[in-house]
Amino acid sequence: MRLVIVSNRLPIVLETTETGFRTRRGAGGLVSALGPVLRRCGGLWVGWPGAEASDLNELNALLADHGRQEGFDLVPVILSADDISGFYRGFSNEIIWPLFHDLQSRCNFVPEYWTAYRVVKDKFASVVAANAQPTDFVWVQDYHLMGLGRRLREVGLLSRIGYFLHIPFPPPDIFCKLPWRVDVLDALLHYDLVGFQTAHDLDNFFDCVRTLLPAAKRRRAGDQFQVTYDGRTCCLGAFPIGIDFDDYGRAAASPAVAERAKQIRADLQVPQVLLGIDRLDYTKGIPYRLRAFRLALQRYPELHRRVGLLEVVVPSRESVPEYQDLKAEIELLVSQINGEFTQPGWIPIHYVFRSLEHDELLAYYRLADVALVTPLKDGMNLVAKEYCACQVEGDGVLILSEFAGSAVQMGGDAVLVNPYDLDFVAEAIRRAVSLTREQRRPAMRRLRRIVRKQDIYWWLGRFLGACGLSMDAMTEERRAKSKAAPLPV
Ligand code: UDP
Repeated sequence: MRLVIVSNRLPIVLETTETGFRTRRGAGGLVSALGPVLRRCGGLWVGWPGAEASDLNELNALLADHGRQEGFDLVPVILSADDISGFYRGFSNEIIWPLFHDLQSRCNFVPEYWTAYRVVKDKFASVVAANAQPTDFVWVQDYHLMGLGRRLREVGLLSRIGYFLHIPFPPPDIFCKLPWRVDVLDALLHYDLVGFQTAHDLDNFFDCVRTLLPAAKRRRAGDQFQVTYDGRTCCLGAFPIGIDFDDYGRAAASPAVAERAKQIRADLQVPQVLLGIDRLDYTKGIPYRLRAFRLALQRYPELHRRVGLLEVVVPSRESVPEYQDLKAEIELLVSQINGEFTQPGWIPIHYVFRSLEHDELLAYYRLADVALVTPLKDGMNLVAKEYCACQVEGDGVLILSEFAGSAVQMGGDAVLVNPYDLDFVAEAIRRAVSLTREQRRPAMRRLRRIVRKQDIYWWLGRFLGACGLSMDAMTEERRAKSKAAPLPV
């Protein structure tokens, strides 16, 4: 079996240099989760390269080179500027993204976006059909390509096709606002298996099927569900995505990362460091978090000179005007808070607006006493899991939004908050920094155990297993690797 991953973007960033393009590894949850899987088991990744390359030969050579380094092949889907505008910026990010995050007032239901979406779906289907074998397992990823399954069947693809939604699935009263709601549901039911992050998302999907496709037959089969509609049966399940815990832990424990963490800590000159790491996105609740931090500083003067917030915002979708406005709002809040509270020798917020090198990111995770993960809504949120994996000394506190998918697995041992409740978040910050080491360690130990047990390979095994596929070879290799260097939990 060969794994063929299909996602909107290839897991690379194309950078322009004086002599042409060069590639580097992409950022974001999907790449962090699936990169290690393909690096380990090989296969093919199909997606848009992320920039318009005028010379296709040059692009293919670059992708071949990057693929050789990564251990899997990269196949580009070439999209035009109109495709990007209508499908990526429009349909995906002005309709599906806000709607599925319960932010329907941010949606722009422009009819032309739907047309662009169908054009792009055809382009993806042609590339996948030209590259996949009947014995391959084709695994389509995320919200941009929900309808690809049906198109792949229409062009005659014989492979098994799975789909995983990385973002939440909304309840019927929100989903029904989508003008193309029946098409989208019907298209999803053309996959052999559809995976969601949580049982709550799965329930929402089921409720939408009940509401919009009353003729569909729904039944439970073990811990999975089946929907039979229009002569086809689609399996459905909840598969919370994980991370490569061992890899994060091992890298975070390295002397280079430990040294860097120590150095940054010394530079920050503050006894307790709070950490926020998010892509620039309104779903991440960054302005709410900053307001809650300001409230904590106003209410609890004992926090002055004692805590510092290291807030990392990774640039994302900067061509969309709403994201530019969000950046301006964040930067205004940071400067207001720093203006109000800074004293000689103490700056309350250290603000970083860029993508971090991997080792630098690990050092940030490792040095932080408290992680503030407070999205307004999130499919899973891998930052929460990565933070715990990097607490190699078993310390640290996770403050986690109850609206992140990861709250289902981690809620029992994280400090759960409603990110809209500024009073409560401010109080949670105060409580978190007042905990003693003895109070912090048992919860972090349990969190690390969960993240380690339900890691990316557990997720992969469950998803493939639900499709009747095996990942024996992969687990063998993994077992051999972890035997070579066991990690303390
Ligand atoms: N990340 C990154 N570079 C950075 C900061 C973060 O690649 O400078 C990664 C981080 O390691 C995590 C991902 O971005 O794997 C964010 O995933 P998450 O699920 O938290 O949110 P998403 O961005 O997918 O909505």
